[in-house]
Amino acid sequence: MGCFLGLFGLGRLSRIRGLAFARLRSALCQAQIASQRTAPVRPMDFLKLWLNPMNRRRRIYEGKAKVLYEGPEPGTLIQHLKDDATAFNAKKHEVIDGKGVLNNRISEFVFQHLNDIGVPTHFIRRLNMREQLIREVEIIPLEVVVRNVAAGSLSQRLGIEEGTQLPRSIIEFYYKNDALNDPMVSEEHITAFGWANPQEIDDIMALAIRVNDFLSGLFLGVGIRLVDFKMECGRLWEGDMMRIVVADEISPDSCRLWDIKSNDKLDKDRFRRDMGGLVEAYSEVARRLGIMQDNEPPRSGGPKLVQ
Ligand code: 5GP
Repeated sequence: MGCFLGLFGLGRLSRIRGLAFARLRSALCQAQIASQRTAPVRPMDFLKLWLNPMNRRRRIYEGKAKVLYEGPEPGTLIQHLKDDATAFNAKKHEVIDGKGVLNNRISEFVFQHLNDIGVPTHFIRRLNMREQLIREVEIIPLEVVVRNVAAGSLSQRLGIEEGTQLPRSIIEFYYKNDALNDPMVSEEHITAFGWANPQEIDDIMALAIRVNDFLSGLFLGVGIRLVDFKMECGRLWEGDMMRIVVADEISPDSCRLWDIKSNDKLDKDRFRRDMGGLVEAYSEVARRLGIMQDNEPPRSGGPKLVQ
């Protein structure tokens, strides 16, 4: 049997339906022809590529929870948040449907407000349910953790009971290196090994304090205690000028958020500690921030353009 679309004639089809339909026809023909061969050609891969132009984008980086693609203009990138949840340096891994969508919306909310109050960030705008347009920055290889209440590794390391209010906010630095399990480092290590200079460390600490003040107030207003959070910074170059900006994402994946009355965990500890209910907890954070309406399920699936 020949290719069924051949009945219509290629030239006429192209003229009438345009180039796009002709390409679909060609793809279908190839799929049909290939299916009659014994050679292991995979026509569906070709079709997938044609039907999903996202696959043609140049991937710059893929991490545990995000992918960075080349952006539409020089100096921009597209940050795509995945549903993958990892913990303990990816020894624990699960795909949780809807997590990427919720983190994209919550992170957009936080970064847009930071921009609005004059805290410089890499965020430009959200593109769709899973993706945002960001400025390309040179990521500083440090995780900056700000703590208000004892929890997690601080409690383990120093034997302080989880939930103890700290005498003041504490800033810690961790060297971003999976092979070494992101070890905690001092300013001495950071400057000696050239990951950032003293002026940059001052800028990072000033940003961390401003982000902590903003987030603490934001969450307190919706009945949530900001126990701690992790942020990352990057160097944004504008001509010869460079400034440090907040980068990556800020979401319940990278914060500890406890309900102020019940102390219920509304963050990634639900996954780390096998508590379940992660999507419900993230949805609750989004609902309280006014990002999602009551009972609105997180919409997942393919990207949907925001007008
Ligand atoms: P801890 O050092 O207690 O494990 O984490 C402190 C804070 O930083 C927590 O809010 C935790 O979610 C965040 N954090 C630490 N390391 C990472 C990381 O590698 N990825 C993410 N998403 N968050 C982290």
